[in-house]
Amino acid sequence: MHNIRLMTMLCLGILIAGSVPLDARSPQQITERGKTTVSDTNTTKVEKSEQEWRQILTDEEYHILREAGTERPFSGEYVDYNADGTYTCAACGNPLFSSETKFKSGSGWPSYYQPIDPDAVETRADNSLLMRRTEVLCARCDSHLGHVFNDGPDPTGLRYCINSVALDFESGEAETE
Ligand SMILES: [Zn+2]
Repeated sequence: MHNIRLMTMLCLGILIAGSVPLDARSPQQITERGKTTVSDTNTTKVEKSEQEWRQILTDEEYHILREAGTERPFSGEYVDYNADGTYTCAACGNPLFSSETKFKSGSGWPSYYQPIDPDAVETRADNSLLMRRTEVLCARCDSHLGHVFNDGPDPTGLRYCINSVALDFESGEAETE
């Protein structure tokens, strides 16, 4: 019993110790749009102050990702985008959706029937605007991505309705778990 607790403490210690130099090991990347993101292979939870997010994101990105805004339908760059690859969180680089699960919904927003990994996104009830909706958030940085609805195609019947502004795209073979 004592040993288990000691091991837990040790592991925690390693985790805490490991998480500090992690940032130093993977220097922040500068994307083409000049913002800084953390490495997309890093699964550590990203916690930044709203002030930090304001510095990293454009005004439009900040509004959608951090203030749960919604871009105008059919305005986003990924609505009719069909390239093979992976859609990542525009705030932290977390891989979110594979192009293989993207479908034409006609809604005006990029739509997917499932996330790239069940743990890539989180959901929570959103009863704003007098509607009962389910908000979709990035599981790594808690940024708002869009909403998920029950009117999607097979095999899940779900429609992840995501703002283009909340996404970045990495071309290449779609990542599958
Ligand atoms: Zn994120």
